[in-house]
Amino acid sequence: MTDIRLYMLQSGSLKCKVHNIKMNEGAGADYEIPVPFYLITHPKGHTIIDGGNAVEVATDPRGHWGGVCDVYYPVMDASEGCVAQLERLGIRPEDVKYVVQSHLHLDHTGAVGRFPNATHVVQRSEYEYAFTPDWFAAGGYIRKDFDRPGLKWQFLNGTQDDFYDIYGDGTLTTVFTPGHAPGHQSFLVRLPESGPILLTVDAAYTTDHWNEKSLPGFLASTTDTVRSVQKMRALAEKTGAMVVTGHDPAGWKAFRKAPDYYA
Ligand SMILES: [Zn+2]
Repeated sequence: MTDIRLYMLQSGSLKCKVHNIKMNEGAGADYEIPVPFYLITHPKGHTIIDGGNAVEVATDPRGHWGGVCDVYYPVMDASEGCVAQLERLGIRPEDVKYVVQSHLHLDHTGAVGRFPNATHVVQRSEYEYAFTPDWFAAGGYIRKDFDRPGLKWQFLNGTQDDFYDIYGDGTLTTVFTPGHAPGHQSFLVRLPESGPILLTVDAAYTTDHWNEKSLPGFLASTTDTVRSVQKMRALAEKTGAMVVTGHDPAGWKAFRKAPDYYA
């Protein structure tokens, strides 16, 4: 595969409450959110963005995630693990060159350490925080997912490295968007035919977050969160990008899913 393409994939869903996603909303109502992740195929080697839940969660959710299952319960089949899904697309694990992390929360770390030739790209501040989270955030980080021997990491340094161009050809650019997590980043993907696509990931969970109507139910900094949304809105306006939010049950339905793709 040498064409530049963006595949949108899903690693099951999380059962939770509305207020876990939208602060102070929902009066205790149930909610279920998709867990998206992304593949970019490229002649220089492929990229996985995030990778969804670790596949172990499909068979032993509580064993792998612990008590956080009381708040976010994963609904996932082992066939929805990222290695299995890439296999079905004909992508060999050794052909994945980059695993790029928006952040290191548990529903985004499913690809870390699964691809032998991959460089793992993450914000340094996120990596450091994942080892030393504050009490309220600790459940969101599953250390055994990212603290693995022999991993090759590349650390980006916040605003200093902002708009880092992964391939050097404009296909995939990072956008530093802290707030939901201390070292969160979003991504601007530029495709030959489909044009620019902004993957907000968890910097905007749903269109309500994008439209400045909701705050996330889980965040590290409120002011950083809203400023990151403003930064992305300006970027989307300037580039004309199609906007893909991170966990919107309604919004996610509208996009093409693998094996279909954006080229
Ligand atoms: Zn998150």
